Amino acid sequence: MKVIDHLQASAGKTLFSVEILPPLKGKSIESIFNILDPLMGFKPSFVDVTYHREEYVYKKRENGLLEKFSIRKRPGTVSICAAILNHYRVDPVPHIICGGFSKEETENALVELSYLGIDNLLLLRGDAIKSENAFEPHPSGHHYALDLVKQVANMNKGIYLDEDLQDVTPSDFCTGVAGYPEKHFESPNLKSDLRFLKAKIDAGADYIVTQMFFDNQKFFDFVDKCREIGITVPIIPGLKPLTTSKQTTVLPKIFHVDLPEALADEIDKCKSEKEVKEVGIEWCIQQSIELKKAGVPCLHYYTMGSAEVTCRIAGKVF
Ligand code: FAD
Repeated sequence: MKVIDHLQASAGKTLFSVEILPPLKGKSIESIFNILDPLMGFKPSFVDVTYHREEYVYKKRENGLLEKFSIRKRPGTVSICAAILNHYRVDPVPHIICGGFSKEETENALVELSYLGIDNLLLLRGDAIKSENAFEPHPSGHHYALDLVKQVANMNKGIYLDEDLQDVTPSDFCTGVAGYPEKHFESPNLKSDLRFLKAKIDAGADYIVTQMFFDNQKFFDFVDKCREIGITVPIIPGLKPLTTSKQTTVLPKIFHVDLPEALADEIDKCKSEKEVKEVGIEWCIQQSIELKKAGVPCLHYYTMGSAEVTCRIAGKVF
């Protein structure tokens, strides 16, 4: 079932969904089931699976020279989605990114997904890899998520890259895109970022999932601004509980989000990491309760490889 159909069928009830990461290479699919088993008790409507690009590492050889290797630490997005569908009969949402793919490779990946019966996608640009200063598209790939949305919208109309294909079956994907209540870090201002977000919706995206935020007012203002410029699709808040004191500096640095003073003050008062985790969980519970009360279509949790915290939050909210 498509995410948009879940949202429409919910009749105003706030749904529950999660995002998981593929395990580090070398781990088994059981590690995914270990995360998802306890979460299934809360009946997630869909499960997002992130995509992780290659990285370059240097290894020292016996002769003292450094050798450059391309590695993917967390492969398996598509097969994990297939496993989720088979094992739980829950709708998986693979993240599809522009970075590292030609349009042809993207098209072939989409064909494979449709053969697997996976009809939901979250379409993203992806970030620059560590060795790049800024995002660089594949020479025959997409520069922006907007172009990926257009490619999928075309396939949904039966327009494939090879115009000579005969008797084609249109794909039938439901697509989500990312939105940033505190603006995307490369964008000069929120207005410009929203203009490009609207372009993704106008090109055919069905819904928006937001970057994490810790101040609900930022989400409410973002939704208001989206509505003002004519974005009418569902906007799903993405939530991540803060669980370690290190995250007070890491999350703003990596995800370009602010921590409200009240949250930072509470964490400053903590005497142990255990206390920090409790403060973070309680903050996320209060955020969730307020968002649910405001009638958000779904609460989407970034599990970051652990079910325990999300289960505790969901247990208080759903
Ligand atoms: P875009 O929509 O392409 O926007 C990127 C920037 O370009 C923005 O500043 C935008 O304003 C600007 N822009 C957009 N279109 C145009 C245009 N036509 N002309 C000029 N400027 C334009 N990354 C991964 O690698 N794997 C994942 O699985 C993953 N999952 C994510 C899930 C969520 C919910 C979110 C919020 C992010 C995720 N990311 C993931 C990170 C994401 O790839 C990065 O934030 C990336 O930097 C931007 O992706 P985007 O799809 O928002 O890009």
